[in-house]
Amino acid sequence: MIASDALRFGDELFSLTPADLACYSYGMDYRQDAQHSPGSLAVRRHQPPAKPFSDGTKLPIVGELSQNHNRWYIFRFSGLFESRPPLTRAIAAAFLLACLAISGATFAASPAASPNVLPAESMGVTQAPPPQPINWDRVTQEATDLLSKYIQINTTNPPGNEIEAARMLKEKFLTDGVPATTWEPQHGRGIIAARLRGIGKHNKSIILLSHMDVVPADPKEWQVPPFAGLVKNGQIWGRGAIDDKGPGVIELMAMLAIKRAGILLNRDVLFIATGDEEEGGKNGAGWFVDHEASVFSDAGYLLNEGGGIHPLADNKRKVYVVSVTEKTPLWLRLTANGPAGHASDPPAETAVTRLVHALDKLSEYKTPVHVIGPVQDYYHSVAQLDHGPRELLDLASALKNPAFQDKFVSDPGQNAQVRDTITPTVLSASQKTNVISETAYAEIDCRLLPGSDSKTVVSDIKKAIGDDSIKIDVLLNFQPISSPSRSPLMNAIETLARVHDQASVVPSMVIGFTDSHYFRQKKIVSYGFIPIEILPAEGKGIHGVNERVGVKELADGIQRMVQLLKIFGGQ
Ligand SMILES: [Zn+2]
Repeated sequence: MIASDALRFGDELFSLTPADLACYSYGMDYRQDAQHSPGSLAVRRHQPPAKPFSDGTKLPIVGELSQNHNRWYIFRFSGLFESRPPLTRAIAAAFLLACLAISGATFAASPAASPNVLPAESMGVTQAPPPQPINWDRVTQEATDLLSKYIQINTTNPPGNEIEAARMLKEKFLTDGVPATTWEPQHGRGIIAARLRGIGKHNKSIILLSHMDVVPADPKEWQVPPFAGLVKNGQIWGRGAIDDKGPGVIELMAMLAIKRAGILLNRDVLFIATGDEEEGGKNGAGWFVDHEASVFSDAGYLLNEGGGIHPLADNKRKVYVVSVTEKTPLWLRLTANGPAGHASDPPAETAVTRLVHALDKLSEYKTPVHVIGPVQDYYHSVAQLDHGPRELLDLASALKNPAFQDKFVSDPGQNAQVRDTITPTVLSASQKTNVISETAYAEIDCRLLPGSDSKTVVSDIKKAIGDDSIKIDVLLNFQPISSPSRSPLMNAIETLARVHDQASVVPSMVIGFTDSHYFRQKKIVSYGFIPIEILPAEGKGIHGVNERVGVKELADGIQRMVQLLKIFGGQ
């Protein structure tokens, strides 16, 4: 009765009951679940009834509930049973049973399936194969091959086209018997989720989040073709090696290593890789959080890009930087209007001159300096570890000294840590030199510290410009949300840092923004931390040229991730 594909799940960690087997063989066709996205939207919290068969299996029909597996499939004919009188239901059930008895195999191949990535409602996994050591050489080779292949799938955003990458990662999980599925929020866009089940349902799951899309790369500027996935001199080269395909591979391989080793965690680990992060995540994490929240309804914690392991000034000791908050974008469009006409007889004032005047005023405007808690803590901790300048031990007080402040904010990265920034990025007016355009606009990228109020910032900008005829539209903004610096996950990271690298952990603020805010909105404690050591030369490749990651760094990252999940999973 078991379809051959289902046999691939034969090494699933938990002992399969007949009901589970029935679901594997009939309820779930992982090959096709992705093809019907966003049909995956139809994954309902549907309670499938079950019917015992003579061989002991139970099929999801009518009658008692199956207790030992999750509702992770769509029952294609479920509509037959809803809001119908008992007799109709009985006829429908009989019809369906007959169909199944005649052609179980045909039904098994039907696309009426959906993912087994929803939270478990039972106690989850209870048995594992005998523990065995992790073959790190094999894991490293596999991770290297996977990242190389992953880089070769060009997911430059726009347009993204992440679905092919999502399918490849899904296959990798399925080959090891870890349930996974994909979604296609828009044609070509992709999202994948996979779930490694742990024992019990009482501990909140942890999400390992990454994004599959990358920023563009101009091959003319690179030493190697950016989408060839070359492995040379002990490094894996290509766009996305660090941002963010490498971290995705670390997360995936850590999950597979744990499963293969027969390690039972006391919580589930959920892998989610999204698209569209580099363009704000509306067609990626934003879509997923809005449409598929049931997939991660049991999650309490999340790890994402935004932090990592950095060498200290002595180049011997390391520090684990964990971002607990991020600045938020406030993207504005300033539009000026004026008379259109021929440039041979220009009026004294045009849309362009008005706009230029407004931008001039804006560039003179300086936002106030303000040190938020995580930034104060970050500089304090690093100064202590690095025996750095005494002033950094209390940055907020030190910045009251104008001379110190001038020096500190002359570094753009440091400046961005202590104030809202405002910078014009897009300018547009006439397309022809001899035509005066009726309108001209500029787009302004403002980045606000957590705690800054966007309405206040817009009104301050209006005041600074001092011209009511300039129209200001908000293009993008969301509420800043932080995660607490203290949590069981932070404790686990601290233990890992101590045990693995004799290192300390410092909280930080990301001056950009990642997809974490979508999950923080759902009250999930989200940290920017990937346990990989990024060397300064490699760090420059992020959104730059010659992006690459060391094979050793990748392997160390997987080892640390396995250890972190073991610590956080009660091992
Ligand atoms: Zn990224």
